[in-house]
Amino acid sequence: MFFYLQHRKNRVITRGSLFRDTIITKHIVLKKIGAHVSISGGYTKALERITAIGGNCLQIFSTSPRGWKLAELSNNEIEEFIRLKEELAIDSVYFHASYLINLADDGRIGYLSKESLISELNLASRLGIRGSIIHLGSFKDSGDEPIFKHEKYGILITNIREVLESISRSTSFIIENAGMRKIGKSIEEIEQIIKDVGNGQLRVCLDTCHLHTAGHDISTEKKLDSFLDDFDRRIGLSKLEVWHMNDSRDLFGSFRDRHENIGEGEIGLATFRLLLNHPKIKHLPFILETPGFDQQGPDKQNIEILKSLVEN
Ligand SMILES: [Zn+2]
Repeated sequence: MFFYLQHRKNRVITRGSLFRDTIITKHIVLKKIGAHVSISGGYTKALERITAIGGNCLQIFSTSPRGWKLAELSNNEIEEFIRLKEELAIDSVYFHASYLINLADDGRIGYLSKESLISELNLASRLGIRGSIIHLGSFKDSGDEPIFKHEKYGILITNIREVLESISRSTSFIIENAGMRKIGKSIEEIEQIIKDVGNGQLRVCLDTCHLHTAGHDISTEKKLDSFLDDFDRRIGLSKLEVWHMNDSRDLFGSFRDRHENIGEGEIGLATFRLLLNHPKIKHLPFILETPGFDQQGPDKQNIEILKSLVEN
């Protein structure tokens, strides 16, 4: 009798936890919508900030993005970050690398770029942060010639390889597409770099504003389908890690990079609706880097707008 009861009890518990798991799974399947938020006051403050504006994934700078100072966290701070991230059910977190990075440089800037990325990506793996989203840089003097013909293209590839050789396997080097005439402005360029580096830790972040200003049209269902098919053929959709959701102040193909609040710019709500609901990408994190309706950075209103576009 005792065993029977115990057995029944276990079954109930098992059922209970299965039921709970189902609910949790449903939450994870729920849209991943978030934003870039400030780390002012510490990394855990960023987790509180994203929760306060209704997001469940986020991006942060590891340290000031306009300097070369490396981030340093104590073991306690790391443990607290991991604990709170789980408690608030936040999934996923990304670093955005410093704006000063230029991996196509063979001098001091190239060296500092490598050092700062190695430090940041190793910190990411200790924090359970999925990786750093990186603008690769520029050749400064490049015209319209294909990047692989530039004399410094080999330096770019070597520098990326050196970073990858010095980081934990559990984190990703995430290349963001460029909106201006910088390295990574087209899917072809990113394809070429990923093939030449040849490392499974390379992944891709697509920024809607940058796609728009660099002349990639994803404004209708058909055009988005063919863009994603092309991405899949060239790079592989399994390497697409995350989307940056930004409207654009500038015109299609203008090669500028000024973000706008969702629905207030040249891209418009219809394209964001297509992205959020496309079966091939709707499971990915969608992260805002918009100026905010009060110019204080991505806000609740931008998050609410994205949420309103999600179809069940
Ligand atoms: Zn971006």
